[in-house]
Amino acid sequence: MSATSPARLLQQAQQVTPVLAERLVAWQRQEGRHHLPWQGVRDPYRVWLSEIMLQQTQVSTVLGYFERFLQRFPDVQALAAAPLDDVLTLWSGLGYYSRARNLHRCAQAVVSQHGGVFPRSSEALQSLPGIGPSTSAAIAAFCFDERISIMDGNVKRVLSRVLGWDQDLSVKTHERALWEAAQAVLPAREGDMPSYTQGLMDLGATLCTQRKPACLTCPWSDICQARVKGDPERYPVKTRKLKRSERESWLLWLQWQDQVWLQQMPDKGVWAGLWTLPLLDDEQTLMALLGDKLGALIEPQPRTKHVLTHLDWYLNPRRLVLGDAAVAARLQRSLTEMASSGRWVPVADLDNWGLPAPLRRLLQG
Ligand code: SF4
Repeated sequence: MSATSPARLLQQAQQVTPVLAERLVAWQRQEGRHHLPWQGVRDPYRVWLSEIMLQQTQVSTVLGYFERFLQRFPDVQALAAAPLDDVLTLWSGLGYYSRARNLHRCAQAVVSQHGGVFPRSSEALQSLPGIGPSTSAAIAAFCFDERISIMDGNVKRVLSRVLGWDQDLSVKTHERALWEAAQAVLPAREGDMPSYTQGLMDLGATLCTQRKPACLTCPWSDICQARVKGDPERYPVKTRKLKRSERESWLLWLQWQDQVWLQQMPDKGVWAGLWTLPLLDDEQTLMALLGDKLGALIEPQPRTKHVLTHLDWYLNPRRLVLGDAAVAARLQRSLTEMASSGRWVPVADLDNWGLPAPLRRLLQG
């Protein structure tokens, strides 16, 4: 069977317009999700916050974080005025910390460049830190009724299937063609954009899932090309796989009088800006730092694997409880030479520090 051309895709989109949008809007209002705290609001601050948190994180995890963020930072001004450390501490456990840093930078830009009011168009929203095309489209569609399609991973899957788009989405021009088709099927009726946009998200999360889509109960069942062709799971077509790598690190877990030694990671890289135990690339360096006498007292902890999008990171914690003030002071001097940001932090106070989730689990048990 020959592959679909962009012109054929657009034609297909026009053929199912306006039925596709009308059905989705009606289905969302009847069957879609309405219980999430960021739904049904037209406040760009809440929509933006939820969109950023939902990138690469499940709804069930985001719920608690969303509530805590709103309690601590009820509006964009409060978030902009907060120290970055407070934002990272509250974000701790959500992962992908560049999102938290961009969140903070974006809030500051909204306040300093836009008088504390989010711009109303998706184009202007994209000029802000951390706001890409899909997030800007979600904010503009939900809050300002702009006729623009979101295009995250779920939406690519749903639209590829209903429109039968069988071209490789790793290729930019193919992704662009799908986006143009997505624009062609948008609802024309005023006031439908929020339900339509939510409908795309809900359909992707509940019926048109990656494996075993529930086609029988889908509002698009009779117009869906992938279902007609009999193999919905074949879509979306994406051949380029993310290259993964491995890394191994040793964590020096020093304990001194109910305190642990933490140091702040640099501004760039994994865990940027967070507080961690000293990280070393090999065990020899760790042992050289301690010397033979202390090295013999070390308690090795189980090796754990931390899975990131592009990386399997193996962590080897080495624990040492210090009983001598002079030794603690000597190690503090050596560690401060390695990373000037280090300090002793009371274990009871760790909740107030921005730690990566695996370290929090390790230190707090
Ligand atoms: S009919 Fe099936 S494959 Fe097509 S959009 Fe609906 S759930 Fe997805």
